[in-house]
Amino acid sequence: MIVFKFGGTSVGSAENMKKVAAIINDCNEKKIVVLSAVSGTTNSLVQINDYLALHKKEDALFLIDKLENSYYQLIKELYNLTNYHTKAKLFIENKFKEIRSLANEPIKNDKIILAQGEIISTNLFQLYLTEIEKDSLLISALDFMSIDAHEEPEQGNIKAKLNKVLNDNNYQTYITQGFICLNANNEIDNLKRGGSDYTASLIGAAVNAEEIQIWTDIDGMHNNDPRFVDNTFPIDEISFDEAAELAYFGAKILHPQSIIPAQKNNIPVLLKNTFNPTAKGTLIKNCNNSIGVRAIAAKDGIIAIKIKSYRMLMAYGFLKNVFEVFEKYQTPIDMITTSEIAVSLTIDNPKYLKEIIEDLNTFGNVEYDVDMSIVCLAGNFSHSGKGISAAVLNCLTDVPIRMISYGGSQYNISLLIEKNDKIKALNLLNQGLFAESIPHAV
Ligand code: ADP
Ligand code: ASP
Ligand code: MG
Repeated sequence: MIVFKFGGTSVGSAENMKKVAAIINDCNEKKIVVLSAVSGTTNSLVQINDYLALHKKEDALFLIDKLENSYYQLIKELYNLTNYHTKAKLFIENKFKEIRSLANEPIKNDKIILAQGEIISTNLFQLYLTEIEKDSLLISALDFMSIDAHEEPEQGNIKAKLNKVLNDNNYQTYITQGFICLNANNEIDNLKRGGSDYTASLIGAAVNAEEIQIWTDIDGMHNNDPRFVDNTFPIDEISFDEAAELAYFGAKILHPQSIIPAQKNNIPVLLKNTFNPTAKGTLIKNCNNSIGVRAIAAKDGIIAIKIKSYRMLMAYGFLKNVFEVFEKYQTPIDMITTSEIAVSLTIDNPKYLKEIIEDLNTFGNVEYDVDMSIVCLAGNFSHSGKGISAAVLNCLTDVPIRMISYGGSQYNISLLIEKNDKIKALNLLNQGLFAESIPHAV
């Protein structure tokens, strides 16, 4: 079984959906195809929910009309045969009736509106496959994808339920929704923005797939963030550990948690470009890469907290007290550095910041800064490699560094800087560390 996942731009127009159909039809193996919403749709649905929360119903209804019209254009271009176009039109009309009636009721669960993007894209796509006489079965992610009360995927249940659906219906091609799931209360929920990658990886693990293919709008994982840096280039092969670090620390091409289920089950993940399918892409697998920096990513919205113990030297128990505060508020720590009397750490979830600071104040002086960024260098930093940290720091003589984390894992060096310095830092690191690898550099 191969799991294919296509992102928002890959299903972003009739023309692109046809490209997706050609890609999957080219593969003769059994497959599950996970689709995102048509690009822009989830953003519009978020905006509609925001308007509804602010009681701006007219604005919400205006946006609903606009979104609905964009689908009439898409289906006009997607189907050749009148009866398929008519079926699709009826489907869109009913869907938007449903969305309008949700908008007219008091909000009970805004995730229901958010889920409609993936429900629409998968229905339209599956209907297109039927029109071109390719047999497939649409399976609802809500029948098998679920998260528990801590918002963690219920991997055992997902496996049992999905395999039952597959065993009960023998098809060569299954189509399903990324992103959406049921939560512990059996309500519609989701795996957070960009979550279709996570869906694909969870499905891959559940069916023990041969490979998970993530198809997007770029030739694989680049060595640096192409949104902020020129002269980035795709990486042929990268280890699970390195890819997981990059995803977690901001490489938007992958949802932060999406590598873990694939890694746990040793299922290779291939990143491919829907708009350039002959390009090699990036293969993520269990491999021992050579020592050095493989790629760089950056994550924004970081809060740095520094706690200086009231008791000075030999203050054992201090770190335990600090960690207990974060445990109490279920707030994960990303980076940490310590000295004898102080500890600096970072979090990315501001939800309980006020309470955390208040609690920490009981046993230390606390300072904090918001709007920081973590720059993460992923690679193989085994201690036998010499000069890597020096090379990294040499690139950044012009950038104030607030924290450095090195040695926590063999695969990561993290630097905390101000967000305003991020683009500069990413570019300096690119020039300093990758100049020789940039294909057209002299
Ligand atoms: P999809 O809608 O297919 O899920 P995303 O927009 O979520 O696509 O992810 C693809 C985008 O990720 C690329 O267009 C690129 O701008 C961005 N990106 C950020 N960092 C990287 C990286 N290191 N390598 C490749 N793409 C990256
Ligand atoms: N449609 C969702 C989003 O835009 C999920 C995804 O595309 O992965 O976040
Ligand atoms: Mg994405």
